[in-house]
Amino acid sequence: MNQYIEETKKGLVHTYNRFPVVLEKGKGVYLYDTAGKKYLDFAAGIAVCGLGYGNEELNQALKEQIDCLTHTSNLYYNTTCGRAATALLRIAQMDRVFFTNSGTEAIEGALKSARKYAWKKGTGRYEFIAMEHSFHGRSIGAVSVTGNEAYRTPFEPMLPGVRFAEFNNLDSVKEQITDKTCAIILEPLQGEGGINQASKEFMEGIRRICDQEGILMICDEIQCGMGRTGSMFAWQSYGTKPDIVAMAKAIGSGLPVGAFAMTEQVAEFSLEPGDHGSTYGGNPLVCAAVAKTVEIFEREDILAHVREMGDYLEERLTKLAAESDGILEQRGTGLIRGIKVKKPAGEIIQRALEEGLLIISARDNVIRLVPPLVIRKEQIDEMIEKLKAAL
Ligand SMILES: *Cc1c(COP(=O)(O)O)cnc(C)c1O
Repeated sequence: MNQYIEETKKGLVHTYNRFPVVLEKGKGVYLYDTAGKKYLDFAAGIAVCGLGYGNEELNQALKEQIDCLTHTSNLYYNTTCGRAATALLRIAQMDRVFFTNSGTEAIEGALKSARKYAWKKGTGRYEFIAMEHSFHGRSIGAVSVTGNEAYRTPFEPMLPGVRFAEFNNLDSVKEQITDKTCAIILEPLQGEGGINQASKEFMEGIRRICDQEGILMICDEIQCGMGRTGSMFAWQSYGTKPDIVAMAKAIGSGLPVGAFAMTEQVAEFSLEPGDHGSTYGGNPLVCAAVAKTVEIFEREDILAHVREMGDYLEERLTKLAAESDGILEQRGTGLIRGIKVKKPAGEIIQRALEEGLLIISARDNVIRLVPPLVIRKEQIDEMIEKLKAAL
């Protein structure tokens, strides 16, 4: 196995510090490596595999779609794509959707939609306000609005006209507004930035400012959306409907699909034929995954389950924090939680791996817990035991 890792490493661009584990198979909330070792998964492929692994109904739908049709390009209509669009728009409370192949591309599309809107309205606006500690992806556009200098600096110059404000500080946002501001982009709950939840006051304030100033509000729901917070999309728990929403990760349960969606008011003045496109974007295979994922989420009432398991996880983490002096703070909601630890998170993650628990970090000293949304109580108990050992 080590030889396999060494050989593979040579061929890949060295962009990841991968764990020395070769994963082979998944079932439920467990993953198995090539040596047969079992891991309890609290990473879910970075908040992607909401339904866990090996969901038979999902797999059956994918198999049927493969046998039927997987790709046509966007020059034609397809009923599977139509079903996915209708389902996604219903749960996202939006009017128009464009399917992408990733979260990054959903962000690119959202930024382009906002710029086109300003252009068509003739406002001369083009600037974006983004948040410190945000994460929106790795393309030049997405990284330009990402509030992490280390991700941006080697690739400068960035997109012109991006200003950063402090998350959860409305005054800081107001300071960055100019007559050129076109949109404000934010994650209602920052994932990669350390599991930071927007306050109600902040979300409502942003919505109010946008309405007053004629600025568009873009919510990046790529990580916090699709049920993870206990609402289908995180903004819904605030009641602050954005103008444009970016989605990805869990919407396709592991197939590469993202989407940006907008209200009719935005669509009326935004992208037109020739403005944007994607060869693969929303092909029938990934759309079969989206349609089936939404169907299962609604039928099984995953949201109620997330809220119940989220409360239980919080209770168990609170107890663990009281018993252990290794945990400094816990934050988050539903099944997206962060625990700030005393030791470097990397050390604990490595120890957890040995214990058979997969966890990830979010900034240097925060451990991120984003299990499959179908996690059960006894599996949360199992995680707590393993985490305790790792701490
Ligand atoms: C993961 C993520 C992205 C980027 O998505 P990719 O599919 O990796 O391109 C953007 N925004 C947020 C909040 C994310 O968590």
